[in-house]
Amino acid sequence: MKAGKALNARLDHRNPLVFDTHELGRRPGALQRLSRTVQAPGSPTPFGIEGVIGVPEGSPVELDLRLESVLEGVLVTGTARASAEGECVRCLEPLGQQLEADFQEMYSYPDADNRGRAAEPDDDAEDTDDITPLEDGMFDLEPVLRDAVVLSLPMQPVCREDCPGLCSTCGARLADDPEHHHDAVDIRWAALQGLADTTSDGEKDDMGGAEAGVDEKQEK
Ligand SMILES: [Zn+2]
Ligand SMILES: [Zn+2]
Repeated sequence: MKAGKALNARLDHRNPLVFDTHELGRRPGALQRLSRTVQAPGSPTPFGIEGVIGVPEGSPVELDLRLESVLEGVLVTGTARASAEGECVRCLEPLGQQLEADFQEMYSYPDADNRGRAAEPDDDAEDTDDITPLEDGMFDLEPVLRDAVVLSLPMQPVCREDCPGLCSTCGARLADDPEHHHDAVDIRWAALQGLADTTSDGEKDDMGGAEAGVDEKQEK
């Protein structure tokens, strides 16, 4: 699976995220600028942090690329612009956000791999600074673009910096109701609380209070 991946899966020049460097040529110093708008792919991996925020499948991603021919390959520098959608981690309201991601990747000529670098399994190329080989003079920008987009997304998106979130007692959205508060503990909650205390030593505790204790016991 490792070594065969790059060799067997031939790149399809009709894939909008596959770029052809033939026009650029191999004369070191040659430059080519490209602009292309592609649709965000949804599979195999979506452009985003699943369940948090991401660029929806099919939505436009504007790419500006600069291809530079260097001695051992093609250096690609670029910027991607897209709109991400997600939800606020505090109040769970939907939110949209413009993102801009910069990236750079070196794609080497296959005949420049005498030092054995380009022959490395493809999987390692993503974790390290190993160079990705060109295939038939083409490269697939998707892995690089996806990493850049994901890194540019907030891990904890909020609808606004001072979003007060939800009421911990009733779940109401505090931004809609700034005056919101609860008087001293409601007698019904107090009754439930008492119930939780009596069951926490036994089996499951649906109120969640005993979770930490249970985990500790299971680790032994
Ligand atoms: Zn919010
Ligand atoms: Zn409340």
